[in-house]
Amino acid sequence: MKDCVFCKIINKEIASEIVYEDNYTIIFKDLNPKAPVHLLAVPKKHIDSVMDIKNLSAEEFLAIFKAIADTAKELNLDADGFRIVTNTGLAAGQSVNHLHFHVLGKRIFSWPPG
Ligand code: AMP
Ligand code: ZN
Repeated sequence: MKDCVFCKIINKEIASEIVYEDNYTIIFKDLNPKAPVHLLAVPKKHIDSVMDIKNLSAEEFLAIFKAIADTAKELNLDADGFRIVTNTGLAAGQSVNHLHFHVLGKRIFSWPPG
């Protein structure tokens, strides 16, 4: 989608530190990390948020979580635990309207989140 920063990353119009990529999913490092490991797992198909999840196929949706699990294993995030976060809408602080899952690791996380 035009003017979407994550679509531009997917199309390689904007540089990013990509750690995983397949036909359906891209995972890259967050520009403003909130943990020693802070990745963004993003479907290549643009949807604004989880509220439009019906526009992803089951295959596309499963691919994101398989990619997250594979990457977490690769980076050893599963040893101590890690967190997956999806901000949806204004009150949750969603700032990029292309569905994405924050993958945070290598520190202790409090609960409930702020
Ligand atoms: P959210 O605020 O939940 O929508 O998350 C958007 C995330 O995208 C933030 O954590 C930003 O730091 C991150 N971000 C924005 N632009 C870029 C970029 N060009 N490369 C990597 N991460 C980005
Ligand atoms: Zn997009």
